[in-house]
Amino acid sequence: MNVLIVYAHPERRSLNGAINDFTVERLRANGHHVQVSDLYAMNWKAPLDAHDVRDRNADAPFHASLDSKRAFENGLQSRDIEIEQDKLRWADALILQFPLWWFSMPAIMKGWVERVYAYGFGYGVGEHSETHWGDRYGEGLMTGKRAMIVVTTGGWESHYSPRGINGPIDDILFHIQHGMLFYPGFDVLQPFVLYETHRMDEARLHATYDALGQRLDGLWDDAPIAFRKQNHGDYAIPQLTLRDELAAGKTGFAAHID
Ligand code: FAD
Repeated sequence: MNVLIVYAHPERRSLNGAINDFTVERLRANGHHVQVSDLYAMNWKAPLDAHDVRDRNADAPFHASLDSKRAFENGLQSRDIEIEQDKLRWADALILQFPLWWFSMPAIMKGWVERVYAYGFGYGVGEHSETHWGDRYGEGLMTGKRAMIVVTTGGWESHYSPRGINGPIDDILFHIQHGMLFYPGFDVLQPFVLYETHRMDEARLHATYDALGQRLDGLWDDAPIAFRKQNHGDYAIPQLTLRDELAAGKTGFAAHID
């Protein structure tokens, strides 16, 4: 199997760097092919802007999604975007690895998503009608591929528990797992979260490797999160609200998991 790891940390000699090395080694030892997009090492351009389109009329106003669509359809995307899209086509699984920064991914990785997920590739895919609202949320070009987040946090596990002050970790990661991974069609596995990173020592690092290694060994077999698919009857279209009879009494993120 082919695995793409998109990795965002500015320092290779960090905890995240060590975890990234371990991940690559474990996957290769299991016989998988691995590519790493090390975004800081690549000096990845984070902002989505007019430079993302080749041969653009500089006098015309830039439109983030329509220019993206035109560039994608006509082979006019900037080369760095095309290379990452090819890696995604190649991959059977995607791992996003990052330290939690301000309750989300580092900006450089958000910029990877914004630019690589072009109109026609990450969104704007498929028919839009009264019964089918585009190929998204369980359908899309990433259908059949798996994805998993590997994330480290300074906060403790209890801080991210159901009544913890930071909010539950599943809620915090929802915009990534549901909005950036399930949206274009990935089957999303439970995240691997390493809490309280300032308390790390050799023993804990090895325990972390054991736990992460098991998750990597299960990349193809572990059950994905049961996010509800958009076009399979659970949602009224075009309102895109969950049907009243489903998840009765539940609102918010949890309602979108079957
Ligand atoms: P490092 O700082 O590299 O290492 C952490 C510890 O592991 C250190 O004690 C180090 O000595 C040890 N270590 C490193 N490498 C090894 C190794 N090879 N072997 C053994 N020990 C090792 N946290 C939150 O919970 N929520 C937030 O919203 C949040 N926002 C943040 C925003 C910013 C801008 C920043 C800078 C931090 C934020 N944090 C937040 C904390 C952040 O998530 C952690 O600092 C990060 O996850 C730690 O990962 P690291 O790879 O940078 O660790």
